[in-house]
Amino acid sequence: MESLTKRDQKFIWHPLTQHKTHPEMLGISRASGVYLYDEDGKSYIDGISSWYTAVYGHCNPYIISRVCAQMHQLDQVVFSGFTHEPAVALSETLIPMLPENQERLFFSDNGSTAVEVAVKMALQYHFNQGKPKKVLLAFEEGFHGDTFGAMSVSGLSVYNGPFEDFSLEVKRIPVPLEENPSKILQQLEGILNASEVAAFVYEPLVQGAAAMKTHNRSGLEAVLKYLKNKEILLIADEVMTGFGKTGTCFASEQMQTKPDMMCLSKALTAGLLPMAITSCTGEIFEAFYEDEVSKGFFHGHTYTANPLACTAALAGLELYKSDKIQLGIRRIEQGHRKFLDSIEGHPKIRASRQCGVIMALDLDIQTDRYGNIRDRLMAFFMERGVFLRPLGNTVYLMPPYVIEPEELNILYDNIELLLDTL
Ligand SMILES: *Cc1c(COP(=O)(O)O)cnc(C)c1O
Repeated sequence: MESLTKRDQKFIWHPLTQHKTHPEMLGISRASGVYLYDEDGKSYIDGISSWYTAVYGHCNPYIISRVCAQMHQLDQVVFSGFTHEPAVALSETLIPMLPENQERLFFSDNGSTAVEVAVKMALQYHFNQGKPKKVLLAFEEGFHGDTFGAMSVSGLSVYNGPFEDFSLEVKRIPVPLEENPSKILQQLEGILNASEVAAFVYEPLVQGAAAMKTHNRSGLEAVLKYLKNKEILLIADEVMTGFGKTGTCFASEQMQTKPDMMCLSKALTAGLLPMAITSCTGEIFEAFYEDEVSKGFFHGHTYTANPLACTAALAGLELYKSDKIQLGIRRIEQGHRKFLDSIEGHPKIRASRQCGVIMALDLDIQTDRYGNIRDRLMAFFMERGVFLRPLGNTVYLMPPYVIEPEELNILYDNIELLLDTL
């Protein structure tokens, strides 16, 4: 049989890919724990948890056994007019883990739809009260997904070019750093005087796609507090940061000003099945709770709250609370700190940062005209059995919580080797 790489080229269109310059996809035949195995049997340590999802390890036996059992019980059912144990049990488990003002869960399929739902809820919240507001507020360089609403609030314009004329109206503010919070507040005052802002969509503390850009904590607090006082709805996109990435279960826990809505996906279902949740306060829910049918929220996807995905989430949350996983998280945090200390001042590092299990290094390298830096860095790691997918010239780690210290050291050693090779 021809290789997956070759067979793939016949019919498949890959995401985020220019096929003319990147025709070849690596065939992955299986995964286990922190390892991916390609079709030749070569193994790779998954240093980014397959885009922040597989945090309890790939093909986790406990999660698989729970989902298999559920599969024999109830596979899929319409979620309008019906409910089921996995969704109810998940709501009973998740709500107490969220900031105390979160009271309702709305299910959808992926991070983009979680944001889409939040944006639509925010717009209809104002509409239902007879005070429609059209403008959304977001951070520069945020990433919130690829559907129209989520794309509109995203500020990484490389993806948005052809669609800009079709976007929602969005005002952008810089992310809070040490030096700029008072300037941001001034800018906000101008924006709020000129437009009716419905909601602010933000990735709290760390912006994933913007190369793990971290925020100044008190600056973020000041922005959130200011907006809360002006009754702008706060939508925390915790699709990436959720479930233990930033040192707490949710980044919003580290803020005094709590969001009105939260978007969850990625690690929610432990890398097994796609699903997302948009949570909201009782106040938001109340604005839709009327005798008039049209005041309800008419949004739904065919696979909403799929019982198998809910079971994967439930099993994942049980693992999340276990001593073993909490210890794993602490171990990664300590490992990152030690590693960053050990390479401090390296001439090839322009900047470094860490937040929880997330660690990022900006490399001091010339972006040359020939060949893409990211691809060359990634190839360097893949050759050495390590799956890292740098963002531009930023190398980052977000390993599965089950990674062993020796495996973590392999990641660090290869980064160090890269630094010494540059
Ligand atoms: C990945 C991501 C999304 C989009 O999620 P998809 O499941 O890819 O649609 C949205 N927001 C953030 C912060 C993300 O990291």
